[in-house]
Amino acid sequence: MVYPIFVNGSAVLRKVAKDIDSTYENLQEFVDNMFETMYKSEGVGLAAPQVGKSIRLFVVDTTPFEEDDPTLKGFKKVFINPVITERSGNTWVFNEGCLSVPEIREDVERPDIIKIKYLDENFKPHEETYDGIKARVIQHEYDHIEGILFVDRLSAIRKKLLKGRLNAITKGKFKTNYKTRIL
Ligand code: ZN
Repeated sequence: MVYPIFVNGSAVLRKVAKDIDSTYENLQEFVDNMFETMYKSEGVGLAAPQVGKSIRLFVVDTTPFEEDDPTLKGFKKVFINPVITERSGNTWVFNEGCLSVPEIREDVERPDIIKIKYLDENFKPHEETYDGIKARVIQHEYDHIEGILFVDRLSAIRKKLLKGRLNAITKGKFKTNYKTRIL
């Protein structure tokens, strides 16, 4: 099942999401639907708040970036209750977009390397270190479960310049080829 994607202006995107435990109902179905929704909208990551669920879960699949780095092919993962425990390395700039902020792409500066603790879909714990595009996508999705959007990370002047377009999104003035919702 493909979920509609909540866009800028929706309260759920601004909440700090809550951890889940293994009693969470229909988790596998939810994860499958998250991937289906992400592929349908041609995203490389999708966080639960983007489909209206304020829980600490996100999915990624960096395969569309495989031309930049062959290890990105098949990097498909589910992160549950993740905690970024360390951010290091030089910061670098990458042109980001977000399914919840349609029609806007901006250069965002983030640290290169992260260490992250998380549970997989079987609630097995992992602790891993990532860099490059993988760390980039994970940090973007992690921000979503903290109630942060990538546009929050721009300079004050860029934010000012984007204000009108961000307001337009909240009023439904945008086009996407996937289903959206504002609530
Ligand atoms: Zn996003």
